[in-house]
Amino acid sequence: MVDPWSGKQRAEGFRQERSSRSSLFAIEQHAETIALQGNRNPSGDEAEMSDTETKLVEELVTANRILANEDIIDIFGHISVRSARNPQEFLLSCSRSPAAVTAADIMRYRLDCSIITQTSEKQYVERVIHGAIFQARPEVQAVCHTHSEGILPFACTGEQIRPVIHVGTMFWEGVGWFEKYDEGGNMLVASVTEGKALAESLGSGKAALLKSHGCVVAGNNLRETLMEAIYLDRNARVQLEAMRLGKPFYIDREVARRGASVFEKAFVQDRAWGYWLARLPKGWETATGVSPADGSKLEAAAR
Ligand SMILES: [Zn+2]
Repeated sequence: MVDPWSGKQRAEGFRQERSSRSSLFAIEQHAETIALQGNRNPSGDEAEMSDTETKLVEELVTANRILANEDIIDIFGHISVRSARNPQEFLLSCSRSPAAVTAADIMRYRLDCSIITQTSEKQYVERVIHGAIFQARPEVQAVCHTHSEGILPFACTGEQIRPVIHVGTMFWEGVGWFEKYDEGGNMLVASVTEGKALAESLGSGKAALLKSHGCVVAGNNLRETLMEAIYLDRNARVQLEAMRLGKPFYIDREVARRGASVFEKAFVQDRAWGYWLARLPKGWETATGVSPADGSKLEAAAR
């Protein structure tokens, strides 16, 4: 199959499509295009799978907008999701601030971070964070890298983030610590060596701090990972405030492990997703190419 949309033509095509009334059609076209780029001989299941990839693209765009709206990522930072069609590939925006990400920005990568999508867009330098963690952790389905203000005091001091509130129990296994930047590097996690070292710092846990830089969280699905990014920040803020008053009641590891189980449930993740979705500014679907119908359904799930 020959890809009829490539490079500039594709970008232009999406600009035109975004302005048309059929934004859902545009996102489906794009998802199908990127779904097929890694597999030129679609099987009989391709239609169903490409529908799954379409939803993933939609959710990834939505997650970007939520992270921006909740002040977790402003200009820098990113979230990715492993492909449902091929676990050896993942989806991530091109180099774009999350508040501006649209369906047309979602690119497909191999786990070594080489790009599959044909594009002239710039790529995130720190995409190795995602590829390295997806390689090291086959069960991980989504990865998010932020420099959110709540976690930064801990990244700047080495003070541990520990569960102090229920939503913080998601991190009952502890928060890893990364500082092995390349000598002579620029404090970005940009090389394969740095990516691997970061994945090692994460271990089997859900989060790691990057010294004087930010954090990374990894989860079993996109919605869980979004919750982790938001609630690692929330727990850190509350912990810091509590430390100003006295010694916080740190939640015991075993109690935290049990407390965390509720956040693994799909209906809880859907409810949280629906809440953050409902807080997005009016008209965000039109701007991103995400289906309003699906948005309404998810809002209903929040109630
Ligand atoms: Zn960074």
